Amino acid sequence: MDKKLVIIGSGPAGMVCAINALKSGVAKEDILIIEREEELGGTLNLCIHTGFGKGNRTGTELATDLANQIKNYGIEYLVGTTVISFNKDKEITIVSPDIGYEKVKAEAIVLATGCRERSRGGLSIGGTRPSGVISAGTAQRFINIEGYLPGKKTIIVGTTNLALVIARRLSLEGGKVLCVCDARSKLQVDKKEIEECLEFFNIPLKLRTVVTKLFGKERLEAVELADLDKQGKIIRSTKRILKCDSLVYSCGFIPENEIASLAGVEIRKATHGPVVSKKLETSIEGVFSCGNSRFIHKDVISVMTDGKRVGKSVAEYLKKHKSQGGDGE
Ligand SMILES: Cc1cc2nc3c(=O)[nH]c(=O)nc-3n(C[C@H](O)[C@H](O)[C@H](O)COP(=O)(O)OP(=O)(O)OC[C@H]3O[C@@H](n4cnc5c(N)ncnc54)[C@H](O)[C@@H]3O)c2cc1C
Repeated sequence: MDKKLVIIGSGPAGMVCAINALKSGVAKEDILIIEREEELGGTLNLCIHTGFGKGNRTGTELATDLANQIKNYGIEYLVGTTVISFNKDKEITIVSPDIGYEKVKAEAIVLATGCRERSRGGLSIGGTRPSGVISAGTAQRFINIEGYLPGKKTIIVGTTNLALVIARRLSLEGGKVLCVCDARSKLQVDKKEIEECLEFFNIPLKLRTVVTKLFGKERLEAVELADLDKQGKIIRSTKRILKCDSLVYSCGFIPENEIASLAGVEIRKATHGPVVSKKLETSIEGVFSCGNSRFIHKDVISVMTDGKRVGKSVAEYLKKHKSQGGDGE
């Protein structure tokens, strides 16, 4: 299969990029979006709360709106299809249960692969390794997509937006959140979010507090908490044990650039995202990056602005490529 423009990832960055590439002159039949999940929308599909973009829509409403635009414009897409690699010649290997392995040759690639959660390893908690200890993203998928309550008595570690949204969601679904704790002494999020997600549900917020140990063989049975002094050292006398059946952690996000790294795209150590030019082109000619795979953006509006910018850049690149007699001529 040959395509002028292949966009990897169908979150808001990828979809806005496709729409803007089309508006900037790339023909609809020359664009292909490849998405490994079964639906277009990316992370937005997990977010049933409001706060997304203009009009304060839910994540799912925004995803539906963008996906409808893709469908109405007639832009081609493959879902349930994973890009497992690409190379400097922009030969992409995809795999899906329906088509098996296939190669797609592109003139330009946009990486819109989003981000992944930092792993539990970042927490360095001692003790056993029972079930019931999960990341906030997994908890979100369990509750909002699969319809499972991951625990009845939960402790949440981290005060990211995701951690707070999960605290509220668990409470709304009948779970009890014993506390939300964070080693930091200052909040990373707005006071309003604390009010809406924690105070309204009487969930205690414990800053400068860490989980030091887990207990339980098969399933989590309790955790040990301790306070930190101003230097960040554990105050031994504050150690206490709280009975619970689940611990949800949110240690932040890392841009997803596994396939980009394998292809030889230069990655910036500070952001874990590709080094890009002003046109958002990576170190490989004709390969662009946008959204949370470039760096972790503060909200979906800035992600979509990035997608719009890269859509225009990649359209200009393809025009220039054509006038220079590039591939496909
Ligand atoms: C719990 C939570 C709450 C949030 N709340 C808000 C909020 O209130 N307001 C707000 O503005 N923002 C919020 N956000 C942030 C917002 O959802 C993200 O900024 C946005 O979705 C990022 O868009 P993206 O397109 O860069 O990545 P994503 O939406 O993550 O999309 C990336 C897509 O790429 C696909 N992909 C990755 N690798 C491959 C591959 N190899 N092959 C094929 N497909 C691949 C993935 O499956 C995914 O669908 C929230 C996020 C979370 C998790």
